[in-house]
Amino acid sequence: MRCAYCGFEESKVFDSRPVEDSASIRRRRECLRCEKRFTTYERIELVPLIVVKRDGRREPFDRTKILAGLLRARGKRPVATERLEALAADIERALRLRGEAEVPSSEIGEQVVERLRPLDEIAFVRFASEYRRFGDADSLVEEVERLRAQKQREELHLKQIPLLPADTKVSGRH
Ligand SMILES: [Zn+2]
Repeated sequence: MRCAYCGFEESKVFDSRPVEDSASIRRRRECLRCEKRFTTYERIELVPLIVVKRDGRREPFDRTKILAGLLRARGKRPVATERLEALAADIERALRLRGEAEVPSSEIGEQVVERLRPLDEIAFVRFASEYRRFGDADSLVEEVERLRAQKQREELHLKQIPLLPADTKVSGRH
């Protein structure tokens, strides 16, 4: 590593520590010639991850796109930005663990739904409709429909209960 001051090619490392989510290492170095100190960062080289869109187009995976979608979906909902950042990082990790170079966009959509839904239902529905606008990830739309149908069933169920005579045993699966 060439010295930032005099260009000499040898230096000694006197401090190393992981930064961010341990994906890089920060090293403090001292030039063996001029003895000035400088910092270098070492990053793990990640295998490029390619997203295959529904229409077959391919583009490099970009975590910030997921985060941008999550932030839009959150709007003014009380969900901390850090949680959404962690969610996006978590999804990237899960996708890379698949060990495959290409990932269908619908898979990403499913990963988002799975994690966003327990965080905030409104944000989840917004995210889903946003996806729909871009014509990407039908599975999300289906998920919203399913959720709506489930809500309706639950409301119907609640309305029906008071109509039953008090001594009727309700047989239901739980
Ligand atoms: Zn130097």
